[in-house]
Amino acid sequence: MVKCPYCGYEGKHTLLKTWKYRWWDVYYYQCPKCGGKFRYQVDPEGKRKSYVMRVGVKRG
Ligand SMILES: [Zn+2]
Repeated sequence: MVKCPYCGYEGKHTLLKTWKYRWWDVYYYQCPKCGGKFRYQVDPEGKRKSYVMRVGVKRG
């Protein structure tokens, strides 16, 4: 389950884009609740996950 790093929303997010970055699978999501966009990165083994909050996003 993806969790919005801005507002903590844990429901269904809008998947805008996916791509590969080095060994990461990157998912670019938009939160339907606060409108924040963020990257969610998962390595192929699923061991490491990280959120990357987009800098400069205008919030609420
Ligand atoms: Zn949010």
